[in-house]
Amino acid sequence: MKIPYNYLPMEFKDNKEIFKHWKKLIKSTDFTLGQYMIDFENKFKKFVNAKYCIATNNGTDALILSLKSLGIGRGDEVITVTNTFYATVGAIVAVGAKPVLCDSDDRFQIDVTKIEKLITRKTKAIVPVHWGGASPEMLKIVNISKKYNLLIVEDACMGIGAKVNGKSPGTFGHVGAFSMHPLKSLNVMGDGGVVVTNNKKLYDWMKKYRNHGMINRNENVIWGVNYRMQPLQAIVAIHGLTKIQNVIKIRNQNAKFYDLQLKELKEYVKVPHRPKGYIETFALYMIECKNRDKLLSFLIKNKIEAKVHYPKPLHKQKAYQQNYKKINLPVSEKQSKSLITLPVHQFLGKKQLTFVTKTIKKFYTNVI
Ligand SMILES: *Cc1c(COP(=O)(O)O)cnc(C)c1O
Repeated sequence: MKIPYNYLPMEFKDNKEIFKHWKKLIKSTDFTLGQYMIDFENKFKKFVNAKYCIATNNGTDALILSLKSLGIGRGDEVITVTNTFYATVGAIVAVGAKPVLCDSDDRFQIDVTKIEKLITRKTKAIVPVHWGGASPEMLKIVNISKKYNLLIVEDACMGIGAKVNGKSPGTFGHVGAFSMHPLKSLNVMGDGGVVVTNNKKLYDWMKKYRNHGMINRNENVIWGVNYRMQPLQAIVAIHGLTKIQNVIKIRNQNAKFYDLQLKELKEYVKVPHRPKGYIETFALYMIECKNRDKLLSFLIKNKIEAKVHYPKPLHKQKAYQQNYKKINLPVSEKQSKSLITLPVHQFLGKKQLTFVTKTIKKFYTNVI
């Protein structure tokens, strides 16, 4: 049995609606901004319950746009977590600010108990990451930000469809950024991103900056860039929104099955705590395990496409070490040696999930 990590061939078999609207779009040649992009923005802001929404090229641009809208730049320090995708820190560096990396907690999220120690006179913002589609302790982060008068830009790139006590990632801070890259919970056919905010001023600025600082064809009020979402992708994203709730439901059921089965192996495998009131997207289903590298090879030999996110935390990467002082973040360093990501997507059924857990059980009971 083969357990693929990539489910996109199955996901995009369902493409009739997409082609229908692509044909309409091609006839209209409404290729820049356009009605489909506006429709997507209206649907997305309803879905996450935010006042304003701006569709962008991708999640990285969404993060850069968010940071810039708050005036974060040269001379500012921005606190984020070391175990994240490169783009979180890449965006902070792209606006000219200095990334200050925090260690992870035992749910692989930013450790909220270690944030305050990192705050200096230069700290301007916190970028909490909803890593893997789970959420950090957002309410505590909001409290810290209020106490020290800091801004919050949420990296909710993996968090479309997640909830913390009924509230969507991206709506706790001043601005939230999302991605619709093929490895996230809602996928377009290539790249797509979104920014949400409840602040009209920030929204007005971001809308202008996304489109060259134009307010109309003949008037340019600020220097901007081109971060516009492609209408072709807006159509795919609108279709994705009709299915996302079901996707999240199935992934949560799959994850629950893994959790229950793997808890039987608690000598070898550690399933993270799943706090009440948190709904995850399971963009990544991660556990910690003994003998990780051997388990990984064993799973791959058995055609189960497991992965590691990531074998090297950001503060150990060359890009970081060339530019900043060396730091030790022991929890994330330890986790980078024990983390494994299992396929958990919405196209896996009971039979495949059972094969995965049986293979893991076989590894620990036969090999060790
Ligand atoms: C994917 C991702 C990004 C970047 O999104 P793109 O759409 O690929 O540019 C940023 N942060 C995190 C946490 C991500 O997972």
